[in-house]
Amino acid sequence: MEIQRVAVIIEDDKDIRDLLNAVLQQSGFKVFTAPNGTDGVEAVRTHNPTVVTLDLGLPDIDGFEVIRQLRLFSDAYIVMLTARAEELDTLMGLEAGADDYITKPFRPRELRARISAMLRRPRASEEKPATTSDAAVPDTAAETAAPALAAAAGTAPAASAVPESGQFRHNGLSLDFGTRTTEVDGAPVELTRTEFELLHAVLESGRRVRTKTDLVRRLRGDEYDAGGFISEADERTVEVHVGNVRRKLGDDSRSPRWLETVRGVGYRLAPTR
Ligand code: CA
Repeated sequence: MEIQRVAVIIEDDKDIRDLLNAVLQQSGFKVFTAPNGTDGVEAVRTHNPTVVTLDLGLPDIDGFEVIRQLRLFSDAYIVMLTARAEELDTLMGLEAGADDYITKPFRPRELRARISAMLRRPRASEEKPATTSDAAVPDTAAETAAPALAAAAGTAPAASAVPESGQFRHNGLSLDFGTRTTEVDGAPVELTRTEFELLHAVLESGRRVRTKTDLVRRLRGDEYDAGGFISEADERTVEVHVGNVRRKLGDDSRSPRWLETVRGVGYRLAPTR
């Protein structure tokens, strides 16, 4: 049985709102729209969407405030729509808790690719999809690169290739891929899906460096990998998300317990203490 996913569009420009509505409906969403921030927050509260598209320039409250309010109760995937010249705004939006951004004018194909990549990341609150795999998953970060490679090469959806009961433990951090939960020294830490995905990617790679480009591709999915150009702005998106993860975990970039920066390249797991 398939439960129809819900999307909320927060956008004051009617033409863009109609275009987003069409794209999301074609992608199988039940769509609700709001022309301003106040109504948008209420629509998200009422309809509990999987996806929110958010215009940063709204007539009432600013987009950053909308993101902050949404993050108090929603783990929806938040995509900001920004003008090309607003890179600083984009970074502030990511710091406030948005997942990704698309610059206007956007191509519908690009939005569909982002959303389909996101849909491969189930929320903890959703039932896990049925899987035919009953292979035992080792409680270690080793050997987990294989599913990612298989997903990159194969035709199957990536979600089915990823171990669902994978658990990772490192220096007091525990991440459970099956329940989508994270704990530090036994205390739960609330991560957005994007933050969880990034942390998971670094944990499963261990001391092998994950480049920022690699992490952008990981977040955006295989379709995007096919020909997508990764810009410096995209890489900064990863930097902001990593900063958010560090803040939530209480990690210190100068003396990292988990996320070690490899200057000019990317990130890897800090050594075992
Ligand atoms: Ca606007």
